[in-house]
This record gives sequence, C-alpha cells and structure tokens, in this order.
Amino acid sequence: MSEVVNIEELFGSKVFTRATMKERLPKNVYKEVTRIMDQGGELTLATADVVAKAMKDWAVENGATHYTHWFQPLTGITAEKHDSFVSHPDESGKMMMEFSGKELIKGEPDASSFPSGGLRATFEARGYTAWDITSPAFLKEDATGVILCIPTAFCSYKGEALDKKTPLLRSMEAVSEQALRIVHLFGNTEATKVVASVGPEQEYFLVDREKYLKRPDLIFAGRTLFGAPAPKGQELEDHYFGTIRERIGAYMKDLNLELWKLGVTAKTQHNEVAPAQHELAPIYETANIAVDHNQLVMETMKKVAGRHGMTCLLHEKPFAGVNGSGKHNNWSLGTDNGVNLLDPGDTPNENIQFLLVLACIIKAVDVHADLLRQSASDVGNDHRLGANEAPPAIISIFLGEQLEDVVKQLVETGEASRCLEGGKLMTGVSTLPDLAKDATDRNRTSPFAFTGNKFEFRMVGSSDSIASPNTTLNAIVAEAFCEAADILEKADDFDVAVHDLIKKYFTEHQRIIFNGNGYSDEWVAEAERRGLPNIKSMIEAVDTLTTDKAVKLFEKFGIFTKAELESREEVLYETYAKTINIEALTMIDMASKQIIPAVVKYTKGLADTVIAVKEAGADASVQADLLKEVSTKLTVMKTALAKLEEAEEKAGAIENVKDQAFFYKDVVREAMADLRTPADELEMIVDKKVWPIPTYGDLIFEV
Ligand code: ADP
Ligand code: MG
Repeated sequence: MSEVVNIEELFGSKVFTRATMKERLPKNVYKEVTRIMDQGGELTLATADVVAKAMKDWAVENGATHYTHWFQPLTGITAEKHDSFVSHPDESGKMMMEFSGKELIKGEPDASSFPSGGLRATFEARGYTAWDITSPAFLKEDATGVILCIPTAFCSYKGEALDKKTPLLRSMEAVSEQALRIVHLFGNTEATKVVASVGPEQEYFLVDREKYLKRPDLIFAGRTLFGAPAPKGQELEDHYFGTIRERIGAYMKDLNLELWKLGVTAKTQHNEVAPAQHELAPIYETANIAVDHNQLVMETMKKVAGRHGMTCLLHEKPFAGVNGSGKHNNWSLGTDNGVNLLDPGDTPNENIQFLLVLACIIKAVDVHADLLRQSASDVGNDHRLGANEAPPAIISIFLGEQLEDVVKQLVETGEASRCLEGGKLMTGVSTLPDLAKDATDRNRTSPFAFTGNKFEFRMVGSSDSIASPNTTLNAIVAEAFCEAADILEKADDFDVAVHDLIKKYFTEHQRIIFNGNGYSDEWVAEAERRGLPNIKSMIEAVDTLTTDKAVKLFEKFGIFTKAELESREEVLYETYAKTINIEALTMIDMASKQIIPAVVKYTKGLADTVIAVKEAGADASVQADLLKEVSTKLTVMKTALAKLEEAEEKAGAIENVKDQAFFYKDVVREAMADLRTPADELEMIVDKKVWPIPTYGDLIFEV
C-alpha cells in the first residue's frame, strides 16, 4: 500500500497564499494588499515592510535561509540571485534574520549579462526587478536549501522591459481595458476588469539519464544531432494514451506532488503520440500566474526526472522522424463578475456579444497573423512548424462546423437564423442564431482552434516561455476591441451597428478561417491564394516585430516601445545564431572524436577479417564489399565534416547579427544536415557494439 498523502493540506503548502496572508497580516494590511492585487496600484513602503516581515517569518519557519527576486529575462527561462536574510550582527554579536519592504518590492540584481539587445549599455548595466504582487511568492527547495522566491518584472534604469513578464502584464491591462468597453456596451456595467486566462498543456520526453550522459548532443543541444531511425517508430500508435509504465508512473506521481506543493494545479497526465513522450496539463488560471507556473512546471519536470534516474527533454524536436513537443496554449477572456467572453452563452444578448468578440478575434488574428506566428517561434520550433506533423507555419482559425456555418450565413445573406446543431432559435434577434456549445470540435491540425469556450493556440513550442504568445494575443485582441468600441460607442442604433460590424468583420476576415486539414499541401497552396502569410522559420519571423503595423499596435497600448521591439529583434537573431553555433560545434565534436574514430576502428577489424578469410582460402567478398561501403561513407562524412568546419568559421566572422543568423540558417544548417546523413547511414551498417553513442532505439524504447 502506498502511503496516503493529504493533498488538500499539501496543495500550496510552499506558497504564500492569500489564506496565509490573511492569517499572518493585520486586517487592514491584508485588505490593502488584496485590493492592490485585484485592482492594481502601489504598496506604501510602510505596508510593504509589514508584508515583508510576515513573508520572511513564514519562509524562515519553513526552513528558508535566502530570498530571491525570481524573474524571466529574454533567455526564455527564469533567473534568480539569492540573498540570505542574514543581517549585520548587533554589538553583542547577535544576528537577526531580516527582510525589508524595500527588498521585497524592488531589487537590483545587477544582471548585466542577460541579453538586452542594446537597451542597456554596460556603463548603466543595472537592471531592476519589481515585485509582481499578483503572482504569489513561493518556496523553492533544492541542494542550496529553501529559497523564498518573489515573482518579479525586470526593467532597465529607464523602465524599459528587459524581460518577458513586463510586456505581458502591460498587455493584460490593455486587453482588460478594451474588453471592458465591449462588455459595458452590452450592459454588464458591474464588471471592473477582464482577465485573460491561460491553461498550457505541456509535452515532454523522458530518457534514461545514463544514456543521456553518453550523448553530447542531448547534453549541449537538448536534441539528437545524429541518429538513425529505430526499426519501430510511432506507427502503431500504441503509446498515445497507453498504460503508463511503472518508472514513468512513479515520476508522474512525484512530479504532481511537487507541483501541488507549489500551488500548481497539475490536472491531466498521459502518454503522448511518440514513444517516451508524455503530457501534463494544469487547470487554467490568470495569464501571468499561468506563465509563472508553466516555468515552474518545466523546472520541476527536469528536477524530478533526476531523482528517478531520467532526464526530461523539453526541446521541440529531440528526435528526428518522431513527433515533436509543443505546448497548447488555451486562452480565454473573462470578466471579474464571471462572464467568459468566449462562451456562446444562454441568452440572446450573450450570443450577440459572443459573436462580436469572435468577430474581433478573427479580425485580430487575420490582421496580425505574422505577429502571432512570431510569438510562437523559437529555434527548436523550426523543426515542428510546417514540418508536417505540428500545426503548419500558416496561421488560420478553426471554428467548427456550427460556427463556420453561422459566419457563412452572415456573410452571404446578412442573416443567420439557422443553427446546425438544431439548437433552439431563440435569440430574439431574427438575424442571429442561438448557439449551442459545439462539443464535437476536434480538429487537431489547426494552429488556432476554437474549442467551445476558449481558443487553443497550438503552435507554441514545448521549451518556450508562454509569455510572448499571450502578450501578442492580448495585444492584438485589445486593438480589435478598441476599434469596435470606438464605432459602437458612437452608434445611434446599437443593435443595428453591432450587427453590421459583426457582418463586416466576418466578411473582411473570413480568409483566415479554415476548417480542413492544416497539414495538407492543398492548404499551403490555398493559403497562398488567400494571401495568408507563410513564414517558414523563426528568423524570418523576427522583423514582423518592427513593421509599422506592429509598432503602432504595441505603442498604442503601451506594451512595447519601438526601442524595446528593436532590442528584442536583436536578441532573437543572436539567440538563433548562438544556438545553431552550439549545435554545429557539438556535431563537429561528436563526428571527429566519437563517430569517425569508431568507424575507423570498425574498418580496421573488417580489413583484418578480409585478409584472414582470404588467407584461409575462403571467399571474402561480403566482407570486402562491406568494407568498401563503410569506407566510402566514411569519406563522405569526413568531407562533410570539413565543409561544416569551414561554414562555422565563415559564420563566426560575420558581424551583423541578422546576416549572421541567416547564414547559420541557410549555410551552416545545410552543412549540418550533410554531415548527419552519412553518419546515420553508417549507424545502420556498423556493428552496434562499436557504435559510440546510444541509439534511438535505446533512447526512446528503453526508458
Ligand atoms: P483538451 O481536450 O484540449 O485537452 P481540456 O478541456 O482538457 O481540453 O483543456 C485543456 C486546457 O485548457 C487545460 O489546461 C484547461 O484548464 C484549459 N482550459 C479549459 N477551459 C479554459 C478556459 N475557459 N480558458 C482557458 N483555458 C481553459
Ligand atoms: Mg488540448
């Protein structure tokens, strides 16, 4: 029997929750803090001091020795710098553990080495962190002890965002403000804010740690750079939702417990399509908390894997020819008085509001498809998007049969009185149907799918922060709401104006709606006819950030300044170049120090055999043929290695970051592929005993 754990007690036990605050803070301070959490504003230093003391006492009682401002620089992961609570001893030599309000709300990590894309010259390198009061502080426990982590935003001296969180928070405010105008127009005047909610489904691979440690490519690049396919792949689909093996089960159990302690609502777990691939989904929550929690999920996945003798791979494509990993970003908007704007609703009024919201989102996604595509790009995701397995690189929207039909009717006749689901037609408005929730939506190939009461943005990469996709989503939808509200607030006849606007938006932007198979070649051609952008790689998506359209959007809602956007562009090019450089160097290293020597040794054995067999007077033609085949491929490999080395050298000499990034994409990556081909062919014919690294079969079928 396994030991019984009280999950209710365990849940959030490492979080400075509202309940803990209520218990530990004076009533008026608690009220002040929660008011600011809910409505915004700034804590006074006096209040911050009280909160800091309570937080420190709670943390110390739970074993904490240090605190950190936990932030999310442009590396896409999180950063922390620990400070202990130790203070200067008094005259008697006694030391008191201390933590002030000032230390709680503001930090100066002097984190000058993080990418900033030129926003910070080193002479003013200081970056500042500011407490994100809406995301709860928590305790992280590892070999360094227990650390109090305070979620923060990270800015330059002049207030420019140096992280992923600041723009996200700005975008949440923008979409709230604009969405409120819409719900107010529909009579919901009690709502005081609209919250973006996010539920990310996280895919991951688990491999045996011993084998992982024998693969420099997994260690340095997080993905295999060599590797012939295993005899069996995912063709039998026996892994998807399959029974969870003991070792994996023990891991998942442990992972859940750790996440629950951190207040992460780990909810769903299952095996994914590829062997050794799995998924975890939490329950959705406010966007910035979901972003923080997703970072904790990724971190905890890696940490717990170590305890079970495994390594968790979050890379988007750890194995060629096997499904990659993504992150389905489920997103919706809800008012603080309980109305989900993406829920078709039960009353005519709610229905019309829903159709307007839908029309606005369709417009936003069509107008800014390029930005949405950009927000889901990272180096690893280039192997997925458009690579015939994941959503294509073309943005389109899946609405489901019922909704698509409504849009069609509205566009064609200006009326939509028929409802496919056979639901009751009781909108009270003859031109708009009553909508029943369509539960049959299961299009898995659409990058942006409506799934009942939320949109599921499926392009996002498994290792990426979900901050950017949600920042972009909030921003583009805020703009569409703003433009709609500008018109509707001035309308003489609101009902007519709404109807006309919905029809106009559907008509003008219907090209973005696509309910068919997003993986097909026909769609690529069709999308081109429709004029939809097909941006094939991460770096080709980079300059969408600074088009006039993008700058206007982001500046209008105070989400990014032009300088911030330009700095991000630079960081993206740099990140791309650096990542491919690491991959190329790793390949060169493995090829010259592991694979080629192993094959050379193997050919020596073969040559000896040929001579011995011939001397013994027997036919050595099989051995000789094999020797010839292996030697030929070895020559090809050696030539390819030299080519890659040459390309690397050229890449290193390019000064302009953009040119360099493109050189890596167009030249270095091709040289990498050319080196991989003969190596993988050799792996298929060389004796397994001499092959220097674990194979795909070893890695994905023997976890
Ligand atoms: P699927 O069938 O795609 O797995 P689920 O209902 O399991 O769908 O939801 C997947 C994710 O979507 C979960 O994280 C869930 O909490 C989240 N989710 C559900 N409803 C909403 C919503 N209204 N807004 C945002 N996320 C949501
Ligand atoms: Mg899903």
